[in-house]
Amino acid sequence: MSFFNSIGRSMTRAPRGPKRSPTPTSATFPPEVTSNGSAPPSPVSSPNKPLYLCSPFVEAALVKGNFKTIVMLPKYVDVMEWVAVNIYDFYTNLNEFYGVISECCTQQTCSTMSAGPTLNYTWINQDRKSVNLPAPTYIDYVMTWVQNLLDDEAVFPTKSGQDFAQTFPSTIKHVYRQLLRVFAHIYHAHYHQILHLRSEPHFNSLFAHFLAFGREYELLEMKDVRGAASTPVGIGALWERWRDMGILEG
Ligand SMILES: [Zn+2]
Repeated sequence: MSFFNSIGRSMTRAPRGPKRSPTPTSATFPPEVTSNGSAPPSPVSSPNKPLYLCSPFVEAALVKGNFKTIVMLPKYVDVMEWVAVNIYDFYTNLNEFYGVISECCTQQTCSTMSAGPTLNYTWINQDRKSVNLPAPTYIDYVMTWVQNLLDDEAVFPTKSGQDFAQTFPSTIKHVYRQLLRVFAHIYHAHYHQILHLRSEPHFNSLFAHFLAFGREYELLEMKDVRGAASTPVGIGALWERWRDMGILEG
């Protein structure tokens, strides 16, 4: 299935959003002209600013207001259960987004797991050596690893009376760090494809929810969001922008 043929599938799967004009179905469709023939509003941008930081994309969301309200622990719900079910949702939704753009994330287009102009994540292999992997390989390793954890009753117990292991919080922190890297790669390398799908409100909402949840339950390290001074993570600036807009923290 081609990238553009997958649009229809993705749109029917996506949560209900604002009404859209008909989706382009041709790969040769001129990108600067919308399907009804008029030019789209020009994003307000400076030359080196990534599109995800530009208006109107940075503000696009399905949820208006603060994400803190949807991450709060519901009454009578065990916090471990709440974290587990949310991790399952974040993983499932992110996996679907990646599935739609994965034809554009190849060994050729993404020979490294990039997440900023100077940042490439490395993978720690079985010999504890740090190795560069193409992004699709890296992401496949992450997603397979998380799927296996989700399927493991010892990590994600599904039967009543079964407790979560003491190591559950630290396992989830590892999961969070790796899923953050997948988000970071998609924003850095594939945001224009998210825009082609007109999915930026969906993707931004998923990521803002992920950030707010991670902060609320201390699963997310800010150094992972920002990166080092010499190798900043692209989405670190997005986090700051959303924080300043007041949508992340109460
Ligand atoms: Zn890629």
